[in-house]
Amino acid sequence: MLPRVAAEGLRCYTVPMNFRNINTWFHAAQDGSVEAVHSRFEAAWKALSAELGRTWPQHIGGKDVTGHVAHAEKFTPFDGRILVGRFPVGTREEALAAVAAAKAALPAWRATAWQERAALLDRTADVMTRRHAELSAVMTAENGKSRFEAGIDVDEAIDFCRSYAEQMRAHNGFITRMGSPFPGEMNETRFVPFGVFAVIAPFNFPIAITAGMTVGALVTGNTVVLKPTQDTPLCGEMVYQCLKEAGVPDGVLNVVHGSGSVVGQAMVDSPDVDGFVFTGSVGVGLGILHAAQQHMAKPVIAEMGGKNPIIVTAKADLDKAAEGVFNAAFGFSGQKCSACSRLYVHESVADALIERILARVKAVVIGHPAERATWMGPIINAKAVKTFVEAVALAKKDGGRVLCGGERVLEGALEHGNFVQPTIVDGLPASHELFRRELFVPFVAVNRFQTLEEAVARANDVEFGLTAGIFTEDAGERERFFNNIEAGVTYCNRRRGGSTGAVVDAQTFTGWKNSGTTGRGAGGRNYLQQFMREQSRTIVTD
Ligand code: NAP
Ligand code: MG
Repeated sequence: MLPRVAAEGLRCYTVPMNFRNINTWFHAAQDGSVEAVHSRFEAAWKALSAELGRTWPQHIGGKDVTGHVAHAEKFTPFDGRILVGRFPVGTREEALAAVAAAKAALPAWRATAWQERAALLDRTADVMTRRHAELSAVMTAENGKSRFEAGIDVDEAIDFCRSYAEQMRAHNGFITRMGSPFPGEMNETRFVPFGVFAVIAPFNFPIAITAGMTVGALVTGNTVVLKPTQDTPLCGEMVYQCLKEAGVPDGVLNVVHGSGSVVGQAMVDSPDVDGFVFTGSVGVGLGILHAAQQHMAKPVIAEMGGKNPIIVTAKADLDKAAEGVFNAAFGFSGQKCSACSRLYVHESVADALIERILARVKAVVIGHPAERATWMGPIINAKAVKTFVEAVALAKKDGGRVLCGGERVLEGALEHGNFVQPTIVDGLPASHELFRRELFVPFVAVNRFQTLEEAVARANDVEFGLTAGIFTEDAGERERFFNNIEAGVTYCNRRRGGSTGAVVDAQTFTGWKNSGTTGRGAGGRNYLQQFMREQSRTIVTD
């Protein structure tokens, strides 16, 4: 009998895993070492500032490939005058050369004992832990995460490495003795790698998700071609450096920069890529899912967008709800795939809740992401600013009331960056497109409801099903929500993030409907199996 978890409302059992989350900021707060974490970040920021503007290579077959004719210049999102670096514009030929290198490295890597592959992840986690402040600083420069959010992102990468290594051990390398229905017959099942995996990564968790997808493919015996997004190429480079330092063999991990439509598409079209792991928007993800099948049925592990609702009922604790909605909506400027962008609130508590949320919004410090006091930094690029401006204009045109925000922030030095205000819009009809389309900016649409059933129905009435939250002190309401909401990651009464803040090996992260293709979550205990196919082996001994 396995031990029972005593959490109220959860009826689950534990599987033994020797794993602990790193939780850098949380543990520092507990043991009084927060100042030391700040100092390390500040030293790393200073060191990085002197390094910005370099020209970087890409990596094929263990070689640093330089000498490109074309480079893309990546500027910081908080100041468009500051160059992060110059990155090669990878070509279709280079993408295919990287695929060939990954294919050549496959036989040896596939034959490497799973214990050794798991040990590579342990060492990668050690390297990332040592370089935590440096990786955080790179991320702050490149995608504008505050030092707190950047630290959490790096933590997640470390957690992915350690938990996936531990899962290989907990599952004995996914080699299982099966039944023997006939005398003299020995049966086992093995999970074996597909082959070459293309890893296509997003900007918003540029170290965590990039590393998580990459090490998931590697630890299970696949070789990889990684394409980071053009919005965060240096974070992709950092993930490569950490794995390289930890001893990943030549050709097992290759990195090609460049656009999705050239480098990404070349891999999608290649008969030599055996599987895809993608995190990004729904349009791109579904495009890859369909196009990848042109030569052969291939796995496409895709985690895609969201339009995540939080429901606040008449039985909610409104302080908890206001904090949870605020954190979920505006943390990392609304650019988490789990961000709350729809608020459904019972009509009897709507005004009181909104008042509490507005009080929090008023106190938000928007500014340079490396500064300690900053809570909200910039959004990623000019295209995102355009999305924000157009959404506000559309809301106004269709009769929405802008309760807060709605404008760009152009004061002082911020005029050189992509800064916008946290924005809440009330009064649009529940069927309006601003309740349906993912914007990926700090923009929340509010709708008032009368019954929980009505709220859940509206929450479900979209193509997405990533995360969802409820605030209620009523156990019956909570159960009705959990049992009827169409979302892969669900929360009740979570102040730290009413729909956000999943942690490795705690909340398995998967999207339902058009938010994901597999129904198995990253950071969960059923994730790694997706990078392998089963082979049943029968040996007759009589
Ligand atoms: P994105 O614009 O869809 O890009 C993701 C990646 O796909 C980038 O590397 C991009 O390259 C590449 N790409 C674009 N076109 C391609 C093509 N035709 N073939 C192959 N690859 C192609 O996503 P993003 O803006 O970086 O990230 C935000 C999105 O990710 C949001 O929708 C968010 O909800 C989602 N997300 C989901 C999760 C989850 O777990 N469900 C987690 C994080 C983020 P370039 O950009 O370099 O062209
Ligand atoms: Mg994008």
